[in-house]
Amino acid sequence: MLSLTVRALSIHARYTCRHAGACCTAGWDIPAEVSAAHTALELRPGSVWNQGEWPPGIAGIVARRSDRSCIFHDSGRCTIQRERGPDHMPSACRVFPRIATVRPSGLLVSLSHFCPTAAGLLFESQRLAIVEAPVLFSYETTLATLDARQLAPPLLRPGVFMSWPDFERWESHVIQVLGERDGEWTSTLARLEADALALQGWTPERGSLAEWLSRHLDAGRACADAPSPPSPHAALAVWHRLFASVPHAVRDLPALLTPISDPFAWPPAQSEISHVLRNFAAAHIFGSHLVLQARSLLAGLRAAEIAAELALLHAAALARSRAGSTCETVLREAIRRTDFLLRHAAEDRALLQIMNETATGLRRRSRS
Ligand code: SF4
Repeated sequence: MLSLTVRALSIHARYTCRHAGACCTAGWDIPAEVSAAHTALELRPGSVWNQGEWPPGIAGIVARRSDRSCIFHDSGRCTIQRERGPDHMPSACRVFPRIATVRPSGLLVSLSHFCPTAAGLLFESQRLAIVEAPVLFSYETTLATLDARQLAPPLLRPGVFMSWPDFERWESHVIQVLGERDGEWTSTLARLEADALALQGWTPERGSLAEWLSRHLDAGRACADAPSPPSPHAALAVWHRLFASVPHAVRDLPALLTPISDPFAWPPAQSEISHVLRNFAAAHIFGSHLVLQARSLLAGLRAAEIAAELALLHAAALARSRAGSTCETVLREAIRRTDFLLRHAAEDRALLQIMNETATGLRRRSRS
């Protein structure tokens, strides 16, 4: 058991599995460790497919039905969990939808909003903050945890590393600003972009980076020009690049990757959904290992913008085919599709490349 401080976003801290079943019917491979495979085979002979080569400790994948649902998913519940308890489930099932990263300061946990329960949390009115969440994540996150302490420290700008405390000071600032409810989400990101640009201007002659951070972040907001609206065409281009990185075996999963081919108009009334998009953006910044690997603070912010814009893109596509659905229903499904793409299907490398390439695009947009 890890004895690390566990932190999460306030909106995620109450997460608990409500048995929505999205993970059990997604059709993806569920690796079964040797002990989990043993239990599965006891309960149901033939329930682990072991053809092929597996990493050490993995005995095979859990069998699926013809509709690609897991063979243990029955009446909305997991038979392994019901018969033997959660300790006996494959670790992938115990961890999902948690995404955990270890840093020197502790364990950070975000969620994949492909899980409908997690997606629903984004709509709550709770104020966004970073909080300790020791109970909810102490068990599951002992598994499948990415150790960011083995990565290089985060970059302020190309060639200039930050200390972990300095980076986490910036990360806290980002979450705090995203949690402020005034204005459109695009204005919020433009303000953060201006902050990032100001911070990236640090040089050793200006004193320590910690002092520079305090001076800028404690002094109040940096000035940001009014952003121009996000472009559905730009978001569509990002979507195509990410989709191109999805392995072919994943493209035909029942979940969510129907190609989007037309440019759409954005859904109306974005101000009504701004807090949801800010929450979603925060979940793609907080604890993200991709943000840690971005070439600058600006490039890291791009992860938030991409998530929000892809959610809008999916919402626009869905709104056209689901006339009569409520805005919340459409947006929740759009967020699920977005996280399926970003968290489970597209290659991290492709997303990181887009973040790093287009960080300057943010700057151009806020000045246009
Ligand atoms: S093993 Fe259980 S929790 Fe895992 S996918 Fe199958 S039914 Fe769902």
